[in-house]
Amino acid sequence: MAIRQIRVIGDEILTKKCKEVKEMTPRTRQLIDDMFETMYEANGVGLAAPQVGILKRIVVIDVEDGNQYVLINPEILETSGSQTGHEGCLSVPGKTGVVTRPNYVKVQAFDQDMKPFVLEGTELLARAICHECAHLDGQLYVELVEGELEDVEDMGEDEE
Ligand code: ZN
Repeated sequence: MAIRQIRVIGDEILTKKCKEVKEMTPRTRQLIDDMFETMYEANGVGLAAPQVGILKRIVVIDVEDGNQYVLINPEILETSGSQTGHEGCLSVPGKTGVVTRPNYVKVQAFDQDMKPFVLEGTELLARAICHECAHLDGQLYVELVEGELEDVEDMGEDEE
């Protein structure tokens, strides 16, 4: 495993639409392992492949509910409710902003063995799913911030 460099806002790769994963390869498995390692090292709760410079539709999430989620080619099927709260992003270091997201999300994706599954999440998991899936279409949360982006003193907590 290896820690990869996290791309930051201003890097054009973060604005691009990612490509679907067609098959699992040793290289892609390695990428997923590296994404988890990179995310943990940076104290994040989610990371999308374009954040490490790879334009593939892959997301990893660990919101500390005891599960590591790998979402390949995720499609959001259903959302409901709303939650408004602070959000951060490992690609926007040192900043946070208030974003309203659905409070419930149902997503369909493929796992590391390219088996389809459905994941339902609420609260932080729902927020992380929305945030990470948006990365795959080249969107950053800063476009959704209500009010101003703020500086965070305590960097590295709950960043996605
Ligand atoms: Zn992010």
